[in-house]
Amino acid sequence: MLTNTPLSTLQSTFGYDHFRGQQAEIIDQVVHGGDALVLMPTGGGKSLCYQIPALVREGVAIVVSPLIALMQDQVAALRQNGVAAAYLNSSLSRDEAYRIEQQLMAGELKLLYVAPERLLLPRTLSLLEQLNVSLFAIDEAHCVSQWGHDFRPEYVQLSVLHERFPNIPRIALTATADETTRREIIDRLALHDAKCFISGFDRPNIRYQIQEQSGNAREALFRFIQNNHEGEAGVVYCLSRKKVDETAAWLAQKGLKALPYHAGMSQQERQLNQERFLRDDGIIIVATIAFGMGIDKPDVRFVAHLNLPKSIEAYYQETGRAGRDGLPADAWMSYGLQDVITLRQMQESSEANEQHKRIERHKLDAMLGLCEITACRRQALLRYFGDTMEQPCGNCDNCLTPPETWDATVAAQKALSCVHRTGQRFGVNHLIDVLRGSEQERIKQFGHDKVSTYGIGKELSNNEWRGVYRQLIARGLLSVDIEGFGGLHLTESARPVLKGEQTLHLRKLRTSEKRERKASPQMANVQNKALWNALRECRKRLADEQGIPAYMIFHDATLMEMMERQPQTLEQLSRISGVGERKLEAYGDAFLDTLCEYGGELHTRSSDTVHETIDLLAMGISVLEIAKQRDLTVTTIYNHLATAISRAEIDLEDVVQLDAKALQQIHFALEQADNKLKPAYESLDGLYDYGILQCVRASTSNEV
Ligand code: ADP
Ligand code: ZN
Repeated sequence: MLTNTPLSTLQSTFGYDHFRGQQAEIIDQVVHGGDALVLMPTGGGKSLCYQIPALVREGVAIVVSPLIALMQDQVAALRQNGVAAAYLNSSLSRDEAYRIEQQLMAGELKLLYVAPERLLLPRTLSLLEQLNVSLFAIDEAHCVSQWGHDFRPEYVQLSVLHERFPNIPRIALTATADETTRREIIDRLALHDAKCFISGFDRPNIRYQIQEQSGNAREALFRFIQNNHEGEAGVVYCLSRKKVDETAAWLAQKGLKALPYHAGMSQQERQLNQERFLRDDGIIIVATIAFGMGIDKPDVRFVAHLNLPKSIEAYYQETGRAGRDGLPADAWMSYGLQDVITLRQMQESSEANEQHKRIERHKLDAMLGLCEITACRRQALLRYFGDTMEQPCGNCDNCLTPPETWDATVAAQKALSCVHRTGQRFGVNHLIDVLRGSEQERIKQFGHDKVSTYGIGKELSNNEWRGVYRQLIARGLLSVDIEGFGGLHLTESARPVLKGEQTLHLRKLRTSEKRERKASPQMANVQNKALWNALRECRKRLADEQGIPAYMIFHDATLMEMMERQPQTLEQLSRISGVGERKLEAYGDAFLDTLCEYGGELHTRSSDTVHETIDLLAMGISVLEIAKQRDLTVTTIYNHLATAISRAEIDLEDVVQLDAKALQQIHFALEQADNKLKPAYESLDGLYDYGILQCVRASTSNEV
């Protein structure tokens, strides 16, 4: 007999109205004791597929997860929703681990996250045999695949679960799409009887943009962030550590909150920057590909690439870290001729065997193809993964502003023939000089002012020729020398173009940089920026009190819905998506107050909880005492008081006695800080409590 149904659990514990996609079917399968293999894109909602069965079934669910950071994150998020969850891994002390084992034995936990190597210890397995295990969930199941990049040898041994616990349902989950990996998972984990649930791999909320570089890529990145993602979290990927450091420093000097992350930094520094990225709002991490695995942050609003990834797989995985929460996000990339040359060179000079090299070449070709296409990028991406999409997506750069093409046959012939005439060993800059008839000494030294292609290309600018060469290299009509000087030579595919048997259409360089349209929902829908900031501030404050990332209190989507619906009672608040029972109880008042203080026409309406606080204050009870008595935080009480002050229901003096000098000092600090509490608090060196500053602020807004 089930006491809770999956749907009622979804609503009461997680605060969501309905299941997404195939969640309901998957959960049904597991709840009734069947095995499942779940392939779902990032952000699709895999976690609930085992968390809900764990809550509905009797006993404790064992979740195998490959990364400590992931486990900690999931457990903290579950606890926020009032779920009894814990993890066992090497980060725990002996005592802590012992305590968790005690809780397990006492049947006090509903979910236990465990690292595979820990699970496989004979000791752990026999502990499990003494427990009532409700199900096994194997997260990131593609780690069993030897061909993938996340291979974990211990994962292969997880088939032992099937042998030792044949009657306990198992669910394996991954976001890795391909057929080979899927078969490996089924074989290695003995999931032959599992029901397969395969979702499409599209990430419709991600807007793909790939721009050819014209001018400074860093400047373009800065403009992109400034125009679209001010104050929002993002990841910028660079190829080298040096470029990471330089880019982070440059962005920081431009006033953005940018931090570096790469394998050359000390473990401690890396950890620190990662923590800040997770906890604080709006941090940009500039990183090599060392960063990302195990980052579950839902509100990453953009992923930018300043270098071309080596394959579409890498590109899709890296960009996939944007927008896990389902809200609009950007995947932005700037690439240029030099990228194409560098990657071609790297691949040509690779030490791998011929077969491997062929695969690498194929992957790079596909990546370059994606960059240069003029049709919908999403359709191309999905096609690459064997998924089809009937219509162009309308949410990529090529759909939004279709690139112009031109008949570049003649230009290509000139460019190719110039390579031929100069002996197939010169780089792009030299070739362009020849085509444009440069007077430079170097040209004359080589006698290149005498070749037939000298000066025949004055009709195109330097940049336009670079675009032509880039596309010829990307399309494989030219290849790059292995020695690394960037010399170009013709390939077989150049022949039909040179002979005039094939025409060639190329992308036109985008001349005037258009202002990017906003992909970000936040500012677009936010008529009331003050309320938005206040809600975020409230969230941050609550998160800081507990030392957890802000998104664990509520996701952006939840705050946005609060903005739209402006709930005024706990009951109304509980109907907002993402507000479950536990969070309603813990944070409901704080958010209602914020809504009340900053919300549109709400000033005239009264809220009972505020009145209760005022009544207690009128009885001469101190703020601290009121908090204790009402079992609320001091912050919440100050929120109430600030609300009451701004409604002119009480005076500032009722709350706190400040002399004229102190008042003046606070007013000044608030003014300097644009009425933001945190900077004002800091500029006053913490002399006055947040709550006091808030009340003073409320008293000024009341005056006007
Ligand atoms: P995945 O593990 O597949 O990348 P998650 O399990 O982290 O995805 O879920 C992504 C986001 O979607 C989370 O913020 C989660 O709370 C949210 N989510 C999942 N299922 C639902 C649902 N049915 N309704 C609303 N939000 C959901
Ligand atoms: Zn498109």
